Amino acid sequence: MKKICVFCGSSSGVDPVFVKKARKLGNLMAKKELGLVYGGASIGVMGAIADGCMESGGKVWGVIPKQIVSLEVGHQGLENLEVVEDMHTRKARMYELSDAFFALPGGIGTMDELCEVITWAQLKYHEKPCYVINIDGFFDHLLRHFRHINQQGFLSNEHLGLVKEFPTYEEAILDFESNY
Ligand code: AMP
Repeated sequence: MKKICVFCGSSSGVDPVFVKKARKLGNLMAKKELGLVYGGASIGVMGAIADGCMESGGKVWGVIPKQIVSLEVGHQGLENLEVVEDMHTRKARMYELSDAFFALPGGIGTMDELCEVITWAQLKYHEKPCYVINIDGFFDHLLRHFRHINQQGFLSNEHLGLVKEFPTYEEAILDFESNY
Protein backbone atom coordinates (compact mmCIF):
# COMPACT_ATOMS: atom_id res chain seq x y z
CA MET A 1 0.00 0.00 0.00
CA LYS A 2 1.33 3.44 -0.93
CA LYS A 3 1.36 5.90 1.94
CA ILE A 4 1.16 9.67 1.98
CA CYS A 5 2.50 11.68 4.90
CA VAL A 6 0.30 14.70 5.56
CA PHE A 7 1.67 17.71 7.47
CA CYS A 8 -1.05 19.98 8.85
CA GLY A 9 -2.08 22.10 11.83
CA SER A 10 -2.56 20.87 15.36
CA SER A 11 -5.04 23.79 15.46
CA SER A 12 -8.21 24.06 13.38
CA GLY A 13 -7.60 27.55 12.00
CA VAL A 14 -10.20 30.28 11.73
CA ASP A 15 -11.86 29.18 8.49
CA PRO A 16 -13.83 25.91 8.90
CA VAL A 17 -12.94 25.01 5.29
CA PHE A 18 -9.52 23.70 6.39
CA VAL A 19 -10.89 21.07 8.76
CA LYS A 20 -13.64 20.19 6.27
CA LYS A 21 -11.22 19.66 3.37
CA ALA A 22 -8.81 17.69 5.57
CA ARG A 23 -11.59 15.29 6.52
CA LYS A 24 -12.55 14.88 2.86
CA LEU A 25 -8.95 14.23 1.87
CA GLY A 26 -8.91 11.51 4.54
CA ASN A 27 -12.11 10.03 3.00
CA LEU A 28 -10.58 10.10 -0.48
CA MET A 29 -7.30 8.49 0.60
CA ALA A 30 -9.25 5.65 2.21
CA LYS A 31 -11.32 5.12 -0.96
CA LYS A 32 -8.18 5.06 -3.09
CA GLU A 33 -6.43 2.71 -0.65
CA LEU A 34 -3.68 5.19 0.10
CA GLY A 35 -2.40 4.95 3.68
CA LEU A 36 -2.16 8.07 5.84
CA VAL A 37 0.95 8.83 7.86
CA TYR A 38 0.70 11.85 10.19
CA GLY A 39 1.66 13.23 13.59
CA GLY A 40 -0.80 11.17 15.62
CA ALA A 41 -2.88 13.95 17.21
CA SER A 42 -6.67 13.93 17.64
CA ILE A 43 -7.06 17.70 17.46
CA GLY A 44 -7.14 20.41 14.78
CA VAL A 45 -6.62 19.72 11.09
CA MET A 46 -4.52 16.69 12.11
CA GLY A 47 -7.43 15.05 13.94
CA ALA A 48 -9.79 15.82 11.05
CA ILE A 49 -7.73 14.04 8.41
CA ALA A 50 -7.24 10.97 10.61
CA ASP A 51 -10.97 10.82 11.42
CA GLY A 52 -11.86 11.22 7.74
CA CYS A 53 -9.55 8.41 6.70
CA MET A 54 -10.76 6.04 9.43
CA GLU A 55 -14.48 6.74 8.94
CA SER A 56 -14.07 5.60 5.31
CA GLY A 57 -12.24 2.44 6.35
CA GLY A 58 -8.70 3.67 5.60
CA LYS A 59 -5.42 2.82 7.25
CA VAL A 60 -3.64 5.40 9.41
CA TRP A 61 -0.19 5.48 10.98
CA GLY A 62 0.33 8.11 13.71
CA VAL A 63 3.78 8.96 15.05
CA ILE A 64 3.99 11.16 18.15
CA PRO A 65 6.80 12.03 20.58
CA LYS A 66 6.22 10.97 24.20
CA GLN A 67 6.62 14.53 25.53
CA ILE A 68 3.68 15.79 23.48
CA VAL A 69 1.23 12.87 23.61
CA SER A 70 -0.90 14.67 26.19
CA LEU A 71 -0.28 18.14 24.75
CA GLU A 72 -1.54 17.21 21.31
CA VAL A 73 -4.00 14.64 22.65
CA GLY A 74 -2.70 11.41 21.06
CA HIS A 75 -5.47 9.91 18.90
CA GLN A 76 -6.91 6.97 20.84
CA GLY A 77 -8.83 5.58 17.86
CA LEU A 78 -5.72 4.73 15.83
CA GLU A 79 -4.80 1.16 15.05
CA ASN A 80 -1.16 2.20 14.66
CA LEU A 81 0.04 4.91 17.05
CA GLU A 82 3.80 4.91 17.54
CA VAL A 83 4.99 6.84 20.59
CA VAL A 84 8.62 7.78 19.92
CA GLU A 85 11.44 9.33 21.92
CA ASP A 86 11.54 12.85 20.47
CA MET A 87 10.58 15.17 17.62
CA HIS A 88 13.57 14.18 15.46
CA THR A 89 12.68 10.50 15.69
CA ARG A 90 9.07 11.35 14.85
CA LYS A 91 10.00 13.22 11.72
CA ALA A 92 12.50 10.61 10.52
CA ARG A 93 9.95 7.83 11.11
CA MET A 94 7.15 9.69 9.28
CA TYR A 95 9.45 10.29 6.30
CA GLU A 96 10.65 6.68 6.25
CA LEU A 97 7.09 5.26 6.26
CA SER A 98 5.83 7.43 3.39
CA ASP A 99 5.94 7.59 -0.41
CA ALA A 100 5.00 11.27 -0.72
CA PHE A 101 4.47 14.39 1.41
CA PHE A 102 1.42 16.68 1.40
CA ALA A 103 1.24 19.98 3.29
CA LEU A 104 -2.23 21.20 4.26
CA PRO A 105 -2.88 24.43 6.17
CA GLY A 106 -1.12 24.60 9.52
CA GLY A 107 1.33 26.62 11.59
CA ILE A 108 5.07 26.70 12.24
CA GLY A 109 5.27 22.93 12.84
CA THR A 110 3.69 22.29 9.45
CA MET A 111 6.08 24.74 7.74
CA ASP A 112 9.05 23.20 9.50
CA GLU A 113 8.10 19.72 8.34
CA LEU A 114 7.42 20.86 4.78
CA CYS A 115 10.69 22.81 4.52
CA GLU A 116 12.62 19.91 5.99
CA VAL A 117 11.39 17.38 3.42
CA ILE A 118 12.14 19.87 0.62
CA THR A 119 15.65 20.39 2.06
CA TRP A 120 16.18 16.63 2.18
CA ALA A 121 14.97 16.35 -1.43
CA GLN A 122 17.46 19.07 -2.47
CA LEU A 123 20.22 17.01 -0.89
CA LYS A 124 18.89 13.84 -2.56
CA TYR A 125 18.31 12.13 0.80
CA HIS A 126 15.04 11.04 -0.80
CA GLU A 127 13.23 11.32 -4.12
CA LYS A 128 9.70 11.44 -2.78
CA PRO A 129 7.41 14.16 -4.13
CA CYS A 130 6.55 17.16 -1.93
CA TYR A 131 3.09 18.65 -2.51
CA VAL A 132 1.69 21.94 -1.25
CA ILE A 133 -2.12 21.82 -1.21
CA ASN A 134 -2.94 25.48 -1.58
CA ILE A 135 -6.54 25.40 -0.30
CA ASP A 136 -8.16 28.81 -0.82
CA GLY A 137 -4.73 30.37 -1.41
CA PHE A 138 -3.59 29.58 2.15
CA PHE A 139 0.03 29.05 1.02
CA ASP A 140 0.21 32.01 -1.40
CA HIS A 141 2.63 33.95 0.85
CA LEU A 142 4.93 31.00 1.41
CA LEU A 143 4.96 30.08 -2.29
CA ARG A 144 5.73 33.72 -3.13
CA HIS A 145 8.63 33.59 -0.68
CA PHE A 146 9.96 30.42 -2.32
CA ARG A 147 9.92 32.28 -5.67
CA HIS A 148 11.60 35.29 -3.99
CA ILE A 149 14.51 33.23 -2.69
CA ASN A 150 14.80 31.68 -6.15
CA GLN A 151 14.96 35.14 -7.77
CA GLN A 152 17.51 36.25 -5.17
CA GLY A 153 19.82 33.35 -6.02
CA PHE A 154 19.35 31.22 -2.91
CA LEU A 155 17.29 28.45 -4.50
CA SER A 156 17.95 26.97 -7.94
CA ASN A 157 15.21 26.55 -10.54
CA GLU A 158 15.68 22.82 -10.25
CA HIS A 159 15.12 22.88 -6.50
CA LEU A 160 12.18 25.30 -6.76
CA GLY A 161 10.66 22.69 -9.05
CA LEU A 162 10.72 20.17 -6.20
CA VAL A 163 7.69 21.96 -4.72
CA LYS A 164 4.60 20.58 -6.43
CA GLU A 165 1.83 23.07 -5.94
CA PHE A 166 -1.87 22.30 -6.47
CA PRO A 167 -4.99 24.28 -5.54
CA THR A 168 -6.92 21.14 -4.54
CA TYR A 169 -6.08 17.83 -2.91
CA GLU A 170 -7.93 15.98 -5.69
CA GLU A 171 -5.45 17.28 -8.29
CA ALA A 172 -2.50 16.41 -6.08
CA ILE A 173 -3.77 12.86 -5.56
CA LEU A 174 -4.27 12.46 -9.33
CA ASP A 175 -0.72 13.70 -9.97
CA PHE A 176 0.66 11.29 -7.38
CA GLU A 177 -1.32 8.36 -8.80
CA SER A 178 -0.23 9.01 -12.38
CA ASN A 179 3.44 9.78 -11.74
CA TYR A 180 4.58 7.70 -8.74
P1 AMP B 1 1.50 23.25 13.84
O1 AMP B 1 1.42 23.40 12.37
O2 AMP B 1 2.41 24.25 14.49
O3 AMP B 1 0.16 23.18 14.51
O4 AMP B 1 2.19 21.85 14.12
C1 AMP B 1 1.85 20.73 13.38
C2 AMP B 1 2.65 19.58 13.86
O5 AMP B 1 4.05 19.88 13.81
C3 AMP B 1 2.35 19.19 15.30
O6 AMP B 1 2.28 17.79 15.35
C4 AMP B 1 3.56 19.66 16.06
O7 AMP B 1 3.89 18.80 17.11
C5 AMP B 1 4.65 19.60 15.04
N1 AMP B 1 5.66 20.60 15.34
C6 AMP B 1 5.53 21.74 16.02
N2 AMP B 1 6.71 22.38 16.11
C7 AMP B 1 7.61 21.62 15.48
C8 AMP B 1 9.00 21.72 15.22
N3 AMP B 1 9.74 22.73 15.63
N4 AMP B 1 9.58 20.72 14.52
C9 AMP B 1 8.83 19.71 14.08
N5 AMP B 1 7.54 19.55 14.27
C10 AMP B 1 6.93 20.48 14.98
